[in-house]
This record gives sequence, C-alpha cells and structure tokens, in this order.
Amino acid sequence: MLKKFASRCIVSVGLASVAVLFVGCADEESYTPQISGVVSELHHSSGYSSTYKPKTSYSSTYSSSSYKPYKPQSSYQSSSGSPYGWVPSRTSERRWKAIVVHNSATASGNMATIDSAHKNNGWDGVGYDFVIGNGSGSSNGQIEPTFRWTGQKTGAHCKTPSNWANESAIGICLIGNFNNSRPTAAQMAALNKLVKFMMKRYGIPASKVYGHKEVPSHSTATDCPGRNFSMSSFRAGL
Ligand SMILES: [Zn+2]
Repeated sequence: MLKKFASRCIVSVGLASVAVLFVGCADEESYTPQISGVVSELHHSSGYSSTYKPKTSYSSTYSSSSYKPYKPQSSYQSSSGSPYGWVPSRTSERRWKAIVVHNSATASGNMATIDSAHKNNGWDGVGYDFVIGNGSGSSNGQIEPTFRWTGQKTGAHCKTPSNWANESAIGICLIGNFNNSRPTAAQMAALNKLVKFMMKRYGIPASKVYGHKEVPSHSTATDCPGRNFSMSSFRAGL
C-alpha cells in the first residue's frame, strides 16, 4: 500500500514538474543573476489604457509576498505623459538595443502566474520585462511591466552564447499559445503601442524587433512566438 502511494506521489510530482516547465518560453539556462548596482525595488503596474478596469481582487493573485497591493491610479499617464510604469528611473535606465517578442505557450495567465512558474524554476522571478494579457487570467490587452523592467534588470527570456539578448533586449511576452491560437486584436494593439514607444525612446529600428525564434544566435530550438504569429506583418506596421 505504501509502495503504491509512493509511486502515485512520484507520478504527481512528475506531472507538476512538467506543467511548470512548460509555462512560458523563457530560456532557463540563459538566466544570469545580476543584482549588484541594480535598483530592485518593486513598483506598481497600472496598465495604460483608458478602458483599463482595475480589479480589486487582483493583488490577492500575486504569490510574491513582496508585491505591494494594487492601488488604482486616477490617471494612467505619468507626469511625463508616457504610460504609467513604462519609463524607468533615469538612474537605472539601460540603453536597450533590441526587442524580443514571446508567447507564454499557455492559454491563460498573467504576470503573477509566470512569475510563480519561473520562481519554481529557481529563478528570482518572471523572466520578461512586460506581459500582455489576452482576457483569460488577465485583462485583454493589459500591459504589465515586471520587476525586471522597473528595476532595469537583466532578462531571463532568450538565451544566446554571449547573453546579449537578455542583457540588451526588452522581452515582451503575450499570453497565449500561438501555435494553436492567435493573439487578440487588443493584445496586438497594446504590443504595437508598447513597441513603438520603446523604439522611439531607445532608437531601436524595426529590424531589431525580433520574434524569439528570429534572434541572431539564439541557442534554444523554439517556435516562439508561435507559428500563427507573423513577425514580418507586425514589423511592417511599426
Ligand atoms: Zn520565447
């Protein structure tokens, strides 16, 4: 009986591990902790759209004890006129050179679910700089800046031999598995707005806006951001 129970546990743990491993497409081995000299304080994300509806229960979904409760903003524009949470502190801002678009490879989710999954991988949190929701587990088209963006930390989303993409490219993850579905119109509108903002702020040309699988010298075989996501069409609209 004990033996049977033990084998059931092993199967359960095994299945749980598989589930965790397939949440998000970030590259585990690419993660390089880099804490010194980087602002690590968490900031709030407030979304950007005038149609954004704060969820009062949202903060309870965060697994991180250090994540501060969400406080609705009266305005979704910062004092500089840019969408709230998109402009990092000038003292920590990096010179970003490229943008990498990902899909989460999950049907639903949000920043907190990816953060939890990536922590289960032994990382210090979500590997991307931004997460864009699809209406399942998050608001459709909602942009969540992560602690990596607000703290201007090295990413953990695209492995290359030199780690250049994690060091120099902004990682944006759309919730969805675009091998068997398509991004929503609201997600694409949000992605377009976010990418255009970053291109202008950092002088990034459209040719440096990559899908994960297009990143020069990327080390991991991947379909990301999915077979149904046309990067060439997306770039043409930038
Ligand atoms: Zn990816």
